[in-house]
Amino acid sequence: MKTSEFELIHQIKKNLIMVPADLIRGIGDDCAVLKKDEDSVFLISTDCLVEKVHFELKQFSFIELGKKAMSVNLSDIAAMGGVPLYAFVTIGVSPDVNEGEVLDLYTGMQQVAAEFQAGIVGGDTTSSPKSFFVSLTVVGVAKNGQYKLRSDAKVGDGIYVSGNVGSSAVGLKLLQKKKVQENNFIKAHKNPRPRIQLGQLLGEASAVHAMIDLSDGLLQDLGHVLSASQVSAEINFENLPLEDDFFETCRSVGLSPEDTALTGGEDYQLLFTMDDAAAEELSSSLVAKRFKITRIGTVLPKEAVPKVALPLPARIRVLKNGKELKLGQLGYDHFLAHIRS
Ligand code: ADP
Ligand code: MG
Repeated sequence: MKTSEFELIHQIKKNLIMVPADLIRGIGDDCAVLKKDEDSVFLISTDCLVEKVHFELKQFSFIELGKKAMSVNLSDIAAMGGVPLYAFVTIGVSPDVNEGEVLDLYTGMQQVAAEFQAGIVGGDTTSSPKSFFVSLTVVGVAKNGQYKLRSDAKVGDGIYVSGNVGSSAVGLKLLQKKKVQENNFIKAHKNPRPRIQLGQLLGEASAVHAMIDLSDGLLQDLGHVLSASQVSAEINFENLPLEDDFFETCRSVGLSPEDTALTGGEDYQLLFTMDDAAAEELSSSLVAKRFKITRIGTVLPKEAVPKVALPLPARIRVLKNGKELKLGQLGYDHFLAHIRS
């Protein structure tokens, strides 16, 4: 298929006609949002990891794979500011995978779910002739007014990210080069942590307007927030939070540090926009709780920045030392990557 993932989702969405009662948000955010009762909503999301597309069994033990599968799914609940409750798990078992490995997968998923008091409550099992896959659907809850959407960024907001960006992409490259000695990059790739507590604190803060988790790369995911909110943004490359040895490690494995920081996927950090007037107070209370957040740019009016061609066009300008960066081959599109591989 030549169509990009985002274009395909757009076409699917266009042709859907049902609008169930109590649906607050359907396609287009990290989770669907459904009314639960007068005070709260359900948050529901699903994500699938396919061998050879999202992971190689040479690089992951089944316990590690289970942990990552649960973490990346819970990350979408974190992205809304929610509390995870339940997970459903579908596995596609390929001929070379045995029972012990499947049970290891569940040990990994269970470990992460238990850490957040969530439970695996169902699923489906099938054979898969070529690639192993694991697909999760997760359900969480949030109070009305305490969950965040992609579509609420406001002109003048600061743009913030948690943790560091670009680390997972460097970790993946190290693994591909068979450099397996554990370091922060490999850890970021193999064992991303869902930012559940941070997401909830940001969910409760009225100064925080829009939020998303970083799965497809900083620019791509920021682009989703900007287009959903009908705004644009300017980012300062110097302000991006990077591992101390990010530049030298990128160069040692042949990665462009700029492209990797801006477009490397799978960091599962939170990106959010916030009214700068409240930033100092919220930042210091988060820092006191040992959360690292960094202001990387500013939300601007829609027309302030022309569209640039990421896989999905986005209105983003990136400045480095006061000069505008030329954005090359950016973002990570699973379909295109799949076709290439
Ligand atoms: P995320 O990266 O946060 O998991 P995605 O980019 O996978 O989000 O999906 C964006 C939105 O599109 C979500 O609301 C998701 O539910 C929806 N979506 C993705 N694939 C499909 C599909 N095949 N059918 C219907 N909705 C889809
Ligand atoms: Mg997401």
